[in-house]
Amino acid sequence: MEHTKKNNLPMIVIFGRTNVGKSTLFNRLVEKNQALISDIAGTTRDSNLNEVSWRGKKFIVVDTGGIMDLSDKISAEEKIGNIEIKVQDQAQQYLRRADLILFLVDTKTGLLPMDKQMALFLKKSLKETKKIILVANKVDNFRRAGEIAEFNKLALGEPFPISAATGAGTGDLLDLIIKKIKLRKTAVGTKNLLSEEEAIRVCIIGKPNVGKSSLLNSILGYERVIVSPEPHTTREPQDTEIIYKTKPIVLVDTAGISKKGTKTKGLEKHGIMKSLKALEKSSIALLVIDINEDITHQDAKLVEEIFERKASLIIIANKWDLIEKKDPKKYSDYIYGSFPFATWAPIHFTSALTGGKVNKILDLILKINEGRKIILGDSQLNKFLLKIVKIHLPAKGKGTKKPHIYEFKQTQNNPPKFQLRIGSRDDLHFSYVRFVTNRLREKFGFLGTPITIEVKKNKGAHGRHIGE
Ligand code: GDP
Repeated sequence: MEHTKKNNLPMIVIFGRTNVGKSTLFNRLVEKNQALISDIAGTTRDSNLNEVSWRGKKFIVVDTGGIMDLSDKISAEEKIGNIEIKVQDQAQQYLRRADLILFLVDTKTGLLPMDKQMALFLKKSLKETKKIILVANKVDNFRRAGEIAEFNKLALGEPFPISAATGAGTGDLLDLIIKKIKLRKTAVGTKNLLSEEEAIRVCIIGKPNVGKSSLLNSILGYERVIVSPEPHTTREPQDTEIIYKTKPIVLVDTAGISKKGTKTKGLEKHGIMKSLKALEKSSIALLVIDINEDITHQDAKLVEEIFERKASLIIIANKWDLIEKKDPKKYSDYIYGSFPFATWAPIHFTSALTGGKVNKILDLILKINEGRKIILGDSQLNKFLLKIVKIHLPAKGKGTKKPHIYEFKQTQNNPPKFQLRIGSRDDLHFSYVRFVTNRLREKFGFLGTPITIEVKKNKGAHGRHIGE
């Protein structure tokens, strides 16, 4: 994948208090890159993230200036804790992912309390200072570079003098960056920086040629997505880890979804097998269909598999650009009509080719993941049950007796599972279970996720598993 390669690069993060010159340095590095390298025109440009190439080595530079709000004055007395709050999530994520951090200070103002606090914050949160380069900016006269000595107090090594505004010293800084990246690569090896948070596992499945690779490429190429440069312990080599809005997401077995062999029947089968394998390891599936083509048995089979595995589902109706009369309602009806098991799945009409609205898909993934984790307490569910029984009395199944619900509780989350306990000789009609499921969804969310409700009788172990 072209974008995987492009984003799978060492990451350099520029950090420092307001007004030290972070964005000037960022622009300087990026500009240098553009003056020297012409073949990366077309690379995603972002106000605070860009690719830089220096002496044939490529890396990503991130300016935390745009994503941190440190503008309001923090008094000297304030503690590190306050800074932690201010260094917002996204900046923290960048700092953790960084291969190198350029900690920028300002020689014109000299060492300020805020610099000290931020240095402490860095030391505390990184637990190692090897990946920090202390950079003294606004050194306009290199003969007086001795003035920067006061920054030694930060105990972050020798300050490196530059002037981001004139560009002086920035070439040498780039050389140092390259050297350090090389050293770190051999020293760190395959370190796992994200072990604290479990990644959301997502697969992109569907028939050949519907646009899976194109969708994957637009996700990996999306400017707000960081593709993790380091292998993760919970992922296999062919999986790709990305970070979106500070959340790690593993795109499962994306290498298996290739353009190779899409036409012949045997290989087509193979593609579906790959889809199923990827599905096994995921909690969320993006099922891609070509909205210009009829939905087939194969698609329905995949939906069935998704439902059986209790994976969450987003239906991606791709190649929407080719549809002349764009009537989402009509197409939604057609899709849900073909997938009667998945009327709870959100449908997203898109064009992977134009890379449109990738953020919507990623936001949906985060939202669905939240829903999968919901845990509802017993009293909350009892209240809920009382209300819905009032709307609609439990309908009986085979038996003659009106069923009575004794208890309703959640027995599992991620994926959500509930239990309805009824009288030993009662039988609950399946449509009532569906009714409860729908009300649950209405009241608590569970976007895009199959809900299982198990009906258990008071005595005996003849419980039934009923989905929707
Ligand atoms: P895959 O086999 O599912 O991975 O499909 P690909 O991503 O290789 O796409 C198959 C073909 O459809 C390629 O020629 C793509 O350029 C094209 N394609 C993919 N997405 C779109 C889209 O949204 N609109 C249009 N018009 N073409 C698309």
